[in-house]
Amino acid sequence: MNEPAAPEWHKTACILCLTNCGLQVQLGGDDGRRIVRVKGDKDHPASKGYTCNKALQLDYYQNGRDRLNTPLRRRPDGTFEAIDWDTAIAEIAAGLVAIRDEFGGERIMYYGGGGQGNHLGGMYAGSLRRALGMKYRSNALAQEKTGQAWVNQRTLGSTFWHGDFHDCEVALFIGKNPWQSHGMQRARAVVRQIAKDEGRSLIVIDPRTSETAELADFHLAVTPGRDAWCLAALLAVIVQEGLADADWLAEHAVGLEEVVKTLLDISIADYAEIAGLEEDLIRRTARRIAAADGVAIYEDLGVQMSLNSTLNSYLDNLLFLLTGNLGRAGGVNIPTAMVPIFGTTKEFRDDDGAIRQELSPVTQSRIISDLVPCNVIPDEIVTDHPDRFRAMVVESSNPAHSLADSERMREALSALDLLVVIDVAMTETARLADYVLPAASQFEKWEATFFNFEFPRNHFHLRAPLLPPLPGTLAEPEIHSRLIEAIGSVGEEDLAPLRQAAAEGREAFAEAFFAAMAANPKVAGHAAHVLHRTLGPTLPEGAEAAAGIWLAAQLAARKYPESLARAGYAGSAIQAGNALFEAILTNPSGTHFSLDEPAESLRRVRLPDGKVDLCLPEMLEELRGLASGGAMPDTEGFPLVLQAGERRSYTAQTLIRDPGWLKSNNATALVINPADAAGIGVGDGGRARLSTRRGSVEVVVEVDPRMQPGHLSLPNGLGLSYPDADGRDKITGVAPNELTAVEDRDDFAGTPWHKFVPARLEKIG
Ligand code: SF4
Repeated sequence: MNEPAAPEWHKTACILCLTNCGLQVQLGGDDGRRIVRVKGDKDHPASKGYTCNKALQLDYYQNGRDRLNTPLRRRPDGTFEAIDWDTAIAEIAAGLVAIRDEFGGERIMYYGGGGQGNHLGGMYAGSLRRALGMKYRSNALAQEKTGQAWVNQRTLGSTFWHGDFHDCEVALFIGKNPWQSHGMQRARAVVRQIAKDEGRSLIVIDPRTSETAELADFHLAVTPGRDAWCLAALLAVIVQEGLADADWLAEHAVGLEEVVKTLLDISIADYAEIAGLEEDLIRRTARRIAAADGVAIYEDLGVQMSLNSTLNSYLDNLLFLLTGNLGRAGGVNIPTAMVPIFGTTKEFRDDDGAIRQELSPVTQSRIISDLVPCNVIPDEIVTDHPDRFRAMVVESSNPAHSLADSERMREALSALDLLVVIDVAMTETARLADYVLPAASQFEKWEATFFNFEFPRNHFHLRAPLLPPLPGTLAEPEIHSRLIEAIGSVGEEDLAPLRQAAAEGREAFAEAFFAAMAANPKVAGHAAHVLHRTLGPTLPEGAEAAAGIWLAAQLAARKYPESLARAGYAGSAIQAGNALFEAILTNPSGTHFSLDEPAESLRRVRLPDGKVDLCLPEMLEELRGLASGGAMPDTEGFPLVLQAGERRSYTAQTLIRDPGWLKSNNATALVINPADAAGIGVGDGGRARLSTRRGSVEVVVEVDPRMQPGHLSLPNGLGLSYPDADGRDKITGVAPNELTAVEDRDDFAGTPWHKFVPARLEKIG
């Protein structure tokens, strides 16, 4: 008898963090729609077979019980009714157009556009935004990374850099635990390798003794919220002990004098004490950084969501710039981007010559990287200001859960005239919507991440669907195209010539498309949609949604011809772009698209004379302000510091909603130091009431000496509502944003202080 054929392995990627490790999966179950086996894909150009434990849990995402399978419309009594797609598209388009016509398209806000692994939808949403004149948008980056993006733009003329941890002599993690939050390819393997190598050093700045800190050669267990003093003291050592790279600075930097003057004034001993660190440890760490041949740095949410967050980013940039680590192998580099993640911050000079930035319409908050700060969104809605947002389109995001002060956010979303949510599941935000549009899951459509940050070789992975869409769902690019067609902003007369060109091949299409972009504002304004409807149908295996990637490849070939040529995509820009697109389409494991020299990073410094600018007056003023205390929320009555949103082994934003994937109690617990536990008389597994100025919740406590006394930690991505086997909604764990406040945010970028929430803990019963 013949053996049954072994189930086929299909190539895809994990979508649970930004590294998107390449995977191979087998499908099974009664309907063949379950992800039953998962292993790393050794052919993936970056992850090379690596995964962490989370990839094994993807079926909890794919087959969640709260998947949506029909468009929903809210009835007057508040309940939802199922409607067909044509009705939903027609009514939503009419509703958005009515708001645009009465109040202006800029009163409709767009939020989201993708999570960790699904950025194609956001690309097509750009066309919808232009169809409606939607000026303002935001997403999670505006509560995490905008301070850093602003600093990067001012100091480097470029919004992003990435540490080369694979080749560094010193790895410096600032408010970052790559063991759990990854953020770079093969994170655990790389961290272990650096820790084992006697010639290399691992430095961690983190109040917690995280898994990464446990392996570190230098662990700077800074007092929560005191990172800026720690970073300032490190820089002061470098300047005061004459350790800066004078030759590099002379050749590549301006603005050194004012920075040096400010750092010379710092008392290292005093700042070390404020940071809760030994002065000797600070000095030894600074010397190790200055002496290294290649320092790779990663700053993450631990400092970007804490006090002085924009200043922290500035100080981090000074660390790699003063030590000459930009554009160096094993240092910090500016990768080639297929699709830039950060928009440009619009700045202009007013009549007095002062630099001004674009501001949000109601609260007049800085718009950085084209994103409205998340923490001000409620105040941009709940007001009688004539310029308030009146409608929102939310895509693949859950602001009612993920942004500060969920109660205030629910109030704001409920106050909109129209809220449209596009998502795979019945999220906390979808529950507040007027219309909910069900999206196909990330394994049911062509998808890709734009988080491609590797240097010197960068890669791109376009994923083919594993499964047909769940009946009743559509991929986001199709949803956007249908809405644009219902709005009627692009006509058949705009598309027909391009359809004809697409039939003649990609070279002819490129000529026609770029000519149309130059001549026809409708094509230029709706480029992704136009591609979807013209080039898209010519792509193999139903890959219409990949049409936008064709444009990304073409633009990359124009912007980075040498980088692409080194990776094997040469010829004219159109030829190189087409060759790259073909490689992306035909490599199911992903493909390298660029190869760079470290010196390329220096050429990407887009400031006068190609020199980095060290002197940011706004930040130097904040740096000097540390001497008198720096930023601090009201702590009266709340003596502890809560870090709201720790990444653990079983947390993944809110992508997996089914609590069945939580394999340990630690996934949901509030972790506290033994002294704090003893202080209120609770032990491991005990119950306590955690209170902040904004809310109060019951928690289960886990006692862990790796926490500092007075420091508490709650996981991220929990507190989600999910139906049990009988269809009754149940909440598992605590939603951190029931405890956070919108006003606790960085003065400059508006990023929230989620890692410094004043709190109180009391034993229950
Ligand atoms: S969670 Fe991140 S590191 Fe882990 S398997 Fe998924 S993509 Fe890779």
